[in-house]
Amino acid sequence: MKSSSVKAIPIKGFTQALMGHFSQLIQSRRRRSYVYARLLLLGCLSLWMLTGLVLPAQRRSAAAAEVELARAANPWSFASFPVENFQAYTSPFGYRQSPFGGEQFHYGLDIAAPLGSYIRNWWEGEVIEVSDDSACGTSVVIESGEWQHIYCHMQGYVTYEGGSRVMVDPGGNIRIREGGTISTGQPIGRVGMTGRTTGPHLHWGLKFESSWVDPAMVLRAMYDDQQALR
Ligand SMILES: [Zn+2]
Repeated sequence: MKSSSVKAIPIKGFTQALMGHFSQLIQSRRRRSYVYARLLLLGCLSLWMLTGLVLPAQRRSAAAAEVELARAANPWSFASFPVENFQAYTSPFGYRQSPFGGEQFHYGLDIAAPLGSYIRNWWEGEVIEVSDDSACGTSVVIESGEWQHIYCHMQGYVTYEGGSRVMVDPGGNIRIREGGTISTGQPIGRVGMTGRTTGPHLHWGLKFESSWVDPAMVLRAMYDDQQALR
């Protein structure tokens, strides 16, 4: 499973699980308005992606801009699925019974994958935090414009090098330095069992303008855009 090349992972074969997640939401009448609110938010997010991609394109050559504009019509297709060897979505975003007791809000999406599977950066950005001393375990937070993406329960640990904090996973050949820039699809860690977890999975959290967003909603948008480009 060793792979260190930079490549975005397309979404394929995950639709069944995602469709299930969405139809479950839509079937529940109590939550219908919640679903509409989510769709409205998704529309706003897409608009933000679109303006962010189209404006820089105007400054480039006509041919390059044409390609960019075509792809910008499907902006979410640029993103990478965040983990290799997908097995299942094991816990959605929202209220749930905590495996450790009581009800809690789960601020992310749990994606099960075998121990050691590579985690890949969803969207290019800057590393704003590496950590290994919370329930999130060994983790990395990356900022891309108004977005923050959080990856928890990875292998490895945090150390200091020349005054900066670095997340190191020697077995996976991973070194993630705070303040560093990470490309879309770049390996940023491997699935582990650090922090509060009952099995190997990636806990993936997404924030837009400081508010938590359901990652499944973003995966759905990515899937739709990737299909549109085929
Ligand atoms: Zn989780």
